[in-house]
Amino acid sequence: MDPILRSTVWLQRAAVRSMGFFGAALMAAYLVWWASGTPPQWLTWTMSALFLLFLWRGLKGLSTEVEPEARAFRNLGIFSALIVGAYALILRAPGGMTGPYYPFVFIVLMVAAAYGRPAVGFGVALFAAFLELAIRIVAWEENDIFALGARLSFLLAFAGLNFLLFRAEIARVRRISQKKITGELERIEDAARAFRLSGGTEGSEEQATSSAVGEVQRGAQFALRMLANSLDLRTAAILAFDGKNSLKVFDAISSCSLKSARISAQNGVIAIALDRREPLCVYGQRAATHLPLYQDAQVVGSLCVVPVYEEDAPRAVLVVDREEEVAFDEKTIESLKSAAQFLVQGIQNERVFTALERASREQGKLYRAASALGAASTEADVIEIGVESAREVAAFDFAAVTLFQRKGGLHEICAVSGVGADALIGKSFRQNAGLVSMAVANRQALPWRGDYEPAKQLVFARGYEPPAMPSLLVLPLIAQERVLGTLVLGSQQRRAFRESVRPALEILASHMAISLSNARMLKTLEEQATTDGMTGLLNKRTLIEDAQRRIKSAERFKKPLSLLVTDIDHFKRVNDTYGHDIGDIVIKGLGDVLRRVKRDTDVVGRFGGEEFVIVCEQTDEDGARQLAERIRRELETTSFQTPLGPLSVTGSVGVATFPAAGRDYETLFKACDEALYVSKRSGRNQVNVWTPRLKQQSSTQASA
Ligand code: GH3
Ligand code: MG
Ligand code: MG
Repeated sequence: MDPILRSTVWLQRAAVRSMGFFGAALMAAYLVWWASGTPPQWLTWTMSALFLLFLWRGLKGLSTEVEPEARAFRNLGIFSALIVGAYALILRAPGGMTGPYYPFVFIVLMVAAAYGRPAVGFGVALFAAFLELAIRIVAWEENDIFALGARLSFLLAFAGLNFLLFRAEIARVRRISQKKITGELERIEDAARAFRLSGGTEGSEEQATSSAVGEVQRGAQFALRMLANSLDLRTAAILAFDGKNSLKVFDAISSCSLKSARISAQNGVIAIALDRREPLCVYGQRAATHLPLYQDAQVVGSLCVVPVYEEDAPRAVLVVDREEEVAFDEKTIESLKSAAQFLVQGIQNERVFTALERASREQGKLYRAASALGAASTEADVIEIGVESAREVAAFDFAAVTLFQRKGGLHEICAVSGVGADALIGKSFRQNAGLVSMAVANRQALPWRGDYEPAKQLVFARGYEPPAMPSLLVLPLIAQERVLGTLVLGSQQRRAFRESVRPALEILASHMAISLSNARMLKTLEEQATTDGMTGLLNKRTLIEDAQRRIKSAERFKKPLSLLVTDIDHFKRVNDTYGHDIGDIVIKGLGDVLRRVKRDTDVVGRFGGEEFVIVCEQTDEDGARQLAERIRRELETTSFQTPLGPLSVTGSVGVATFPAAGRDYETLFKACDEALYVSKRSGRNQVNVWTPRLKQQSSTQASA
């Protein structure tokens, strides 16, 4: 603005604002006249009425909010008028200027000093001093300069001291309350931050990430708004790359509706700016053409497009415009460039946060799946839990698990869920050109993008096909370099198994494979710990445990139980004559004989060497003798095929029955051994049942 114009406006404004003070000064002049002479009564009444009206209006105006400078002028007017009123009262009161009401002036000064700005307090004090002097000199013709000077000084000193004391006190109180308010604000901010970081609820990481994303978005909005307000823009929009050659409005501030669809990065001003890698400003009519930002056609006076590159790759474009044709100067363009950088950082932060959020959600699912799979101890459990966990990672309508036996090259469909799945369960097929066979052979998930064409692609084998679906994925189950089988998932949705779910499914499949292999190992270990390696029958420890359990049960339910011990006759000779390997074939052969002859409820164990024990529940002496006879006969008549030709052996059996021969395992076994001893001593290839008489017989034989 022109300096002369500016000062004229200021003076005008000051004149208007000083009206109150001039009014008070006029009243003061009248007061001096009134004190010195006797103006007409009616004039005094009129002036008094005017004064009261003036004061009333002034006090009423106190409650309205005005700018600080205007308020200072207003306060000066009001307090000056109050000073006039105070002097008028003092002059009217008994004693006048030397009477008891004189300190009333000081009260007004005190209030003025405390209430207004320093300048107002000082102005009011000066006004009071001049009025006092005028009354004394003009009205009363006092001319004692020293006395007048002393009064004046006292008045001003009082106002000054008051001002200082009040100010100090007010400042102190303000400081205390400010501190309190700041503390309270900090506390609230801390609480808010803690709330935001924790997402408002305990340990909810997802919410923390969403808050972080929200924070980034608010930051971008704030920056755009600042930009739009300070540079007087109609639109400030940041466009981020959505594909290789397309952009999308990421965030914007605008008074017009913007396009929500993709915007090509290969056309118009945006393409030119990206190509030049420099901000591009366009003015006038040309600016509106080729700006594909608005939903409806808009008049664009000035436009600036700022491209943002990062390590040679285009990241985003900041587009700002104005309706009027106003040039963007160099400083503005610099600001736009840094704002664009800031916004791109925000976009990247948001993308990182979103990716983190997705990763943490997926990790959570995989973690839950892994721990559930880890707890599964059998093959069936692993398959069931694996399919259930896959449901958390991806939506599917069909699931199957195939297990692959490398030896026979055979695939077996073990578990299936979904429509039309029951017919597939338990089916086996050989290695073929189907997806399952190929996934196993190549150790790769198939088909490539999870798109399935039933007419062209074979999944399991001819005749064993899953229902027709647009999406299907066969994941090989690989553990320790071995393919154990496959997990087959199908969906009625198109593109159900694309990149977004595939990595998680592959990780799940590998967890499943490891658990499957662990379950198998566990099974093998359990078998090794409980069975005899040569015959596959129970080992000594397991058989004793089993026998003890069965004896207890027989005792509780008052049922008979028998124990049999078998031993091959002259087995040393077999070993000595044909060698240990042939001896082993005979031991295995006897194991097969026992397995064949025993009843389902009997348990057989190898005790070491060529001795076997059979525990028969609910079997009395007669039953046990019959079984022992059958075993003896079967062994006698069996000829074992050995590399040195067929070989036959005989065996002896000892039988003892609960409770007659003993009530616990040790006693029963000892009784069996005694019976066996008698069988051996009596010529072998025979059965003996323990009786008290037989005990005597065995002991006499032993001593003989
Ligand atoms: P008897 O008729 O009195 O039973 O005579 P025997 O020769 O069979 O005597 P005994 O039952 O005491 O002999 C057991 C023999 O079995 C001793 C050992 O050489 C043999 N033996 C023990 N364990 C094995 C094994 O695992 N394999 C083979 N081949 N022989 C074994
Ligand atoms: Mg023996
Ligand atoms: Mg023997």
